[in-house]
Amino acid sequence: MAEPIAIAGAGIGGLSAALGLARAGHEIIVLEQAPELGEIGAGIQLGPNAFHSFDHLGIGDEARAVAVYVDALRMMDATDGAEIARMDTGTAFRARFNNPYAVVHRGELHTVLQNACRANARIDIRTGVHVTGYRTGDRKVDVLMDGGDPLTVRALIGADGLRSKVREQMVGDSDLRVSGHATYRTVIPTEKMPPDLRWNMMTLWAGPKCHLVHYPLKGGELFNLVVTYHRGMTEPVSGQPVTNAEVRQGFEHVCDQALQIIDFGENWKLWVLCDRDPIRTWTDGTVALLGDAAHPMMQYLAQGACMAMEDAVNLSHHVGRTGDDIEGALKTYEEQRAARTARVQQTARLFGDFVFHPSGATAHARNTVMRNRTQKEWHDRADWLYARNGLTG
Ligand SMILES: Cc1cc2nc3c(=O)[nH]c(=O)nc-3n(C[C@H](O)[C@H](O)[C@H](O)COP(=O)(O)OP(=O)(O)OC[C@H]3O[C@@H](n4cnc5c(N)ncnc54)[C@H](O)[C@@H]3O)c2cc1C
Repeated sequence: MAEPIAIAGAGIGGLSAALGLARAGHEIIVLEQAPELGEIGAGIQLGPNAFHSFDHLGIGDEARAVAVYVDALRMMDATDGAEIARMDTGTAFRARFNNPYAVVHRGELHTVLQNACRANARIDIRTGVHVTGYRTGDRKVDVLMDGGDPLTVRALIGADGLRSKVREQMVGDSDLRVSGHATYRTVIPTEKMPPDLRWNMMTLWAGPKCHLVHYPLKGGELFNLVVTYHRGMTEPVSGQPVTNAEVRQGFEHVCDQALQIIDFGENWKLWVLCDRDPIRTWTDGTVALLGDAAHPMMQYLAQGACMAMEDAVNLSHHVGRTGDDIEGALKTYEEQRAARTARVQQTARLFGDFVFHPSGATAHARNTVMRNRTQKEWHDRADWLYARNGLTG
């Protein structure tokens, strides 16, 4: 039997890659450092491109069943409470992009992926395993792990996230770019959401050096709240509990309707967002990076997980086609994915500065330009992102 392919990390990217590669005929070992599989209890947005990936990975029905289909992506001015723009995600949007726009609870999406992996006899998931690096050899890779013998496999996919050990060895750029932007997240029952904000939309309130986001989850039972401001923090933070008063600090200048989001929220947690510059090389022989390990990005296009799933589609497509030439397949994957994901990384940064967080004349220009756009113009502008997928690049 052919030696298996190992995947470091069982996040959305790693499990998607496991499904895709197993469907391409390979035995897969997923190595996850956490003692149990899971995702943080927050929401995630899914562009139409994510649905193509679900279908390719064989989980289209299951993913569609847990998604909440929002009516629009709406931008409000957090300073005066006026609507800036709205892209409807109904019939014309679906017809244009062949799929819907949706939001989903991360836990539910991760469970869909886990269930599909566990039902696949080719996939072996091992938890509590911390990958520390790798050694490449002739047609094999030794995966190095804390407190265990190396695992010899045919190839290794580093889907081990923002602080990837596989990337650290391959690329050597261990320092993250700490944006200083503080993001606070929570999920609340819908009955605790301010009644005048219970919209079935992905709503974003854009204000000077800050923005606030809310959308429904779990069939409308919950609301996902995410608020961000430039706090100038210099160290990464991940999921630290904070008080409502701390969250409020960066938002005293926003209108009362938007400010309610913070006061109605509870059990807020803090993340300090980080990303990295794009890179051209994601492979080393039969070792490749995928998802945040390859292209960590700011969340301002809501595409990090969508890109990880596209990576999985592309990778498994090429590995499935090229038979034993896994190195060649990984190289093709790298060539086809690098430009698209770099564009998303860079555009996400620009969105933060020029669309979500400007003030004064720049905010006025944004409002004027965006208010005058037709639905068709919105769709045309989103085409590069939503009408493409992991195979079309
Ligand atoms: C505030 C915020 C909002 C976002 N919103 C969206 C959105 O709306 N839409 C969207 O598409 N994306 C969004 N993203 C981005 C998205 O969350 C990430 O891009 C995505 O989760 C990356 O998935 P991944 O599998 O590559 O990495 P991760 O989810 O980080 O998974 C990596 C896995 O590897 C494991 N691991 C790490 N190191 C090791 C090791 N050494 N050995 C073994 N296992 C290891 C980890 O425990 C983890 O399980 C958002 C991000 C943030 C911060």
